[in-house]
Amino acid sequence: MSEKIYWNHPYKKEFKAKITSIEEQGIILDRTAFYPEGGGQLSDQGKIIHNEDIFDVINVYNMKDQIIHQLKGGFQEKLNVGDMVRGIIDWDWRYGLMKAHTSQHLFSATLKKFYDVNTDKAYIGYENVTIEIDGKISYDQLKKVLKEINQIFSIKNIPISSKTIDKSEMVGYKNEIRGDIQLKDKIRLVVSKNYDMVCCGGTHLENSTEIGMIFIYEFRSGNKIKYYLGSKALDNVSEINLELIESMDLVNQPFYELKPVINNLSEKIETLELKNESISAEFLRLLSKNPNAKIGETKLFLLKLELDDKLIQQIFNIFPNESLLIITSEKKIMIFSNSNIISARSLIKSFIDDFGGKGGGSDFRAQALLNKLPQDILNYINGLFSED
Ligand SMILES: [Zn+2]
Repeated sequence: MSEKIYWNHPYKKEFKAKITSIEEQGIILDRTAFYPEGGGQLSDQGKIIHNEDIFDVINVYNMKDQIIHQLKGGFQEKLNVGDMVRGIIDWDWRYGLMKAHTSQHLFSATLKKFYDVNTDKAYIGYENVTIEIDGKISYDQLKKVLKEINQIFSIKNIPISSKTIDKSEMVGYKNEIRGDIQLKDKIRLVVSKNYDMVCCGGTHLENSTEIGMIFIYEFRSGNKIKYYLGSKALDNVSEINLELIESMDLVNQPFYELKPVINNLSEKIETLELKNESISAEFLRLLSKNPNAKIGETKLFLLKLELDDKLIQQIFNIFPNESLLIITSEKKIMIFSNSNIISARSLIKSFIDDFGGKGGGSDFRAQALLNKLPQDILNYINGLFSED
């Protein structure tokens, strides 16, 4: 089994090792600093160098207690068992994952400490973390967690270390460990001093302040939190900062007044929508008494307005028998018919045939988006029926 350099020396970016086996997918080394995918942490990437040959390490994974370094391009012809090689870790990638991974431990620990909620699932990506908890918290609670976390990630330094203990030593730690306990002979504990202890086989930072400020970009249903780290977090903080200033200018209020202003505005919009609906309904009721024209027994009602479909459908019930209601807005045309003579569908079809466009419907209700509307709809319809 390969020596796991990444456990005791997580900051090692380069190392020398001997090839112990060459497999179909890649090589096995006697020691490695490449972290294999597992425990929620993505695999390392980097390069393996032998003399003049450089191979990209595209994936590293565990297979039957062995760590396979998956290499790109013709390594089987160029490498032999026993060769000494140099490994170089893609440090930007790994350090981003280490920050994300360590931040997740501390975030979950804070959630547990403050509100006794456990982390159900965690996704750890490069500068990106998702945490799902087994309970619900409020915005105010999340605000308290975020304040604490940003202090720990930027100012209040917590040292982080790891140790491997025997199963028999577990008794002493059992009550201190947060989360699942691995049932293995050797157990690796990751300790954030005076703050958190978990069983974990990943790579971690030495100090919490290496993480830096985070930026929560999504909080759903009180139990799913998504945040950015590193450059992504800082870019978002800078952008939102200025967006906020602009929004404050827009409503001429300090930032703590923005939420009440938005609440107030949405209440006003809701009231206006209700008013608009009742005015439209009243308008349709009046219209139902005054047809614009008649074709034989059919009464024609014309309206140029943007209206809610459901509302029209509702009010159309009070229109007299043998009515045809035609509503246009820009290039859209809607026809409602309770006539036994004129079908909404056939009339829409005539419009499409003559003016181009798409649409359809039933005898009672049809609509279309036309390429253009006729100049005079009444005249056009009259023409249709006088030709018959
Ligand atoms: Zn970990």
